Parts: sequence; C-alpha cells; structure tokens
Amino acid sequence: MENYRIYLTEEEIPTHFYNLRADMKTKPAPLLNPGTHQPMTKEELTPVFCEELVDQELDNDTRFFEIPEEVREYYRMFRPSPLVRAFNLEKNLGTPAKIYFKFEGNNTSGSHKLNSAAAQAYYAKKQGLKGVTTETGAGQWGTAMSMACSHFGLECDVYMVKVSYEQKPFRREVMRTYGARVTSSPSETTSVGRMLLEKYPGTTGSLGCAISEAVEAAVSREGYRYVLGSVLNQVLLHQSVIGLESKAAFEKIGEKPDIIIGCTGGGSNLGGLIAPFMGEKLRGEADYRFIGVEPTSCPSFTRGVFAYDFCDTGKVCPLAKMYTIGSGYIPAPNHAGGLRFHGMSPILSQLYDDGEMEVVAYRQNEVFKAAEIFANAEGILPAPESSHAIRAAIDEALRCKEAGEEKVILFGLSGTGYFDLKAFEQYNNGTMQDYVPSDEELQAAIATIPAV
Ligand SMILES: *Cc1c(COP(=O)(O)O)cnc(C)c1O
Repeated sequence: MENYRIYLTEEEIPTHFYNLRADMKTKPAPLLNPGTHQPMTKEELTPVFCEELVDQELDNDTRFFEIPEEVREYYRMFRPSPLVRAFNLEKNLGTPAKIYFKFEGNNTSGSHKLNSAAAQAYYAKKQGLKGVTTETGAGQWGTAMSMACSHFGLECDVYMVKVSYEQKPFRREVMRTYGARVTSSPSETTSVGRMLLEKYPGTTGSLGCAISEAVEAAVSREGYRYVLGSVLNQVLLHQSVIGLESKAAFEKIGEKPDIIIGCTGGGSNLGGLIAPFMGEKLRGEADYRFIGVEPTSCPSFTRGVFAYDFCDTGKVCPLAKMYTIGSGYIPAPNHAGGLRFHGMSPILSQLYDDGEMEVVAYRQNEVFKAAEIFANAEGILPAPESSHAIRAAIDEALRCKEAGEEKVILFGLSGTGYFDLKAFEQYNNGTMQDYVPSDEELQAAIATIPAV
C-alpha cells in the first residue's frame, strides 16, 4: 500500500536555508534608495532591518546559510510538515495524475509564515533588540510574528489592514494572546497613517499602507526594527525549508514532481517551495514546470509591469524591481486575503521575466469551488490563498485526464482557512463577487509607478 502521508523525521529538518539567488544567471535587481536611486547599502538598511537579515538580503552568492540551532529547535514544534498524496482528490477527479501537497497549515498561525517569523525573531533577539514592528494583511503573518516574538522574548507591534481587522477579529485576539499590540491601519498613530486617512477617506486599508506605518513606527523607536513576512529575498531564503523538505520526501519515495504549483501574494511560499527544484533547473540538472497562481483582483504578474516601484503606499520604503500594478493600487476588499499586495518578490519577478516559470490568474468563485472540492475530498479546510494553488492543481490534473498523462503534480497548501469563514459564508450563500479591475483602473495605478 502506498502511503498517504510521507513524513520526514525531526532529524531531517533542513540544517541550512538554500539561497536560490546563488544559482540565478540573472540576479534579482538590487533595492534602490528612493531618494538617490542608488542601490541600498548595508548602512542604509540596518536602521530599518536586523543586521543579520540585511546580510542575507544583500547576499546573491552564498548558496547555503546555516539554520541557527534555536530556530531548528523551534521548528520541531511544527516541522517537518507532511507531504500528502491527495488520493481522494485524484479519485474524485478521475485523473491519472498523482497529486501531492505540502501542508504548511499545521501550526497556530495557520500558514507557512511561521518559518520566516521564527528566523527573523531569533536574529532580532540575537542583536539585542527590544521589539519589532510589522504589518499584517489577512492576519497570518501577524500571528506568526506574535508567536515567534513570544518564544524569543521580544515585543511585537502589528499594524493590521483595516478590512482584516474588522473582518477577522478572532485573528486579532490570537495575536493579543501571544502578547502583541495590534493597531488597525491606516491609523492616527503615525504621520503616514494620518496622511493616508486624509488622502483616502474611508479607506479599508492595504498592505502597502500598513507597511508604511510599521516602518515609521520602527525607525522612530529605540531598540526596534521592522520585519516583513513576504516579498524580500531573506523571506524566500527562510521559506526554502518548504522546498527542501518536499524534495527530501520525494527522494524517500523515489518520485519526482513534474509540475510545481503555488499561490503568489508576495511570493514567499511559492519561492520557498520551488527553490531547490528551480536550482536544479537553473543548473541544468533537471526540468520542472513551475506555476504561480494569483487572483484576478490583484494581478501583479499577469497584468502588471516589470519595473522599480515602491513597496508601500506611503513611499517610505526602498524601491524594488518587481512585477507590480503600482503602489497606488488599493484592491477591492475581497477575500484573496494574503494575495492582495500590489507587487511581487524580486526573485520570482526575475524568474518570470526570464521565462523560468508560468503564472495564471483565477476569479474568486472558481477558487472557492476548488476549496470546496478539496475540503470534501481531503478533509482539510484550505486557506483562500492556498485555494488558488488548488484550483490550478485541479485544472492541471483534469488536463492530464484529457491527455491520458500520468504527471506528478505538487502544490503548496500554504495554510488553513478557519479564520476565513466570512468568505466561505459568502460563497455558500452565492453572494461572492468576482472582481476583475478594469484596464482604466489598472492604468491609473500603474501610472503611480515612479520613473527610475
Ligand atoms: C501570506 C499567505 C500567502 C501569500 O503570501 P506569499 O508570500 O505569496 O506566500 C499565501 N497563503 C497563506 C496561507 C498565507 O498566509
């Protein structure tokens, strides 16, 4: 009998993070100083970010970074995460394809975000800092950071996007239980928040706004630094544990994925999942198809441009070269949750521009249909974000059925959806709206991208 879950032992938790940049022919473009348009130096970045994380951010050459023992110890509470064969889903679809998923929802944050949160909190503590500030959209990152800060003994200040703060009060209480202070963003507590409230009255907020507030709060307080849950190179580095474990588990059963799929908000779960596989592809050792999946409501890859842009609405952060629909874009308050960021990881952006990966976009209702199919088949209630990957995996499996192909499909189940039941309620009531921005709306946002 073939196993349903392929487990690694605790000893097989990776000992090193893998830095995909070391194997990229075209390196991701450097972050630029928004004033001078020169590459950000270590000296400019360390007032905002922890020192060791800045080193990781700027390092395009070191292939492996040792995972600190304290972080590996913490990982043992929820890692290795299982690689699961979706037998029931396969049967349900009648596909000859084999479908596997790497399940990252098995911790209280309900997502992969704790992988990077643990590393970031550890480095902050090691530097002797007092606390960190951050933003959270759907709430998973804020929860993960609260948990990690509680473990490593740091204060944690979370700016939570207003729409989530109101839609997901339970997330807020989880964060507070772990000792974090949670503020609805935009808020009156920062000058950038007050400016944004004046400029966009009645706004439901965005990740871009919350980032601006969190950065301002970090640099204006002694002993604080800012931490970010996605987009940055350092976050993709930490998330490589997802891919490293997946690869080790596949090796255990003598199997190899043909197609690797993940949802893309800022790109960290997909970037982490594909990292070691993409490394093999870039070194010419193996070939895979990589598919990123985004919501039509925030189509950074499929309708954006590859350009230097601000990471935040308040324009206080460095410029990153990425696929973007403009930092002025404030997405409709829909349920793509953690996929509502206007930009994308510079690493994934470069890989996409080089033709190393594909991207597809889906509407809300077809994504929730996939969530429903998956929940009924496999018993796990998926996060709306992860359900984008499920949708693409199902569609690939159905294509295999038509073509009679026995492909091996791996997708990232980045998290669970227990805090997204308002969205499931709308879907179940048939009132969920598919949102696709008009060309005019996107052009207006893209026009906010600075000329660099
Ligand atoms: C945050 C989040 C995402 C999107 O972020 P990435 O950086 O693109 O991974 C996806 N799924 C879940 C469950 C999340 O919490």
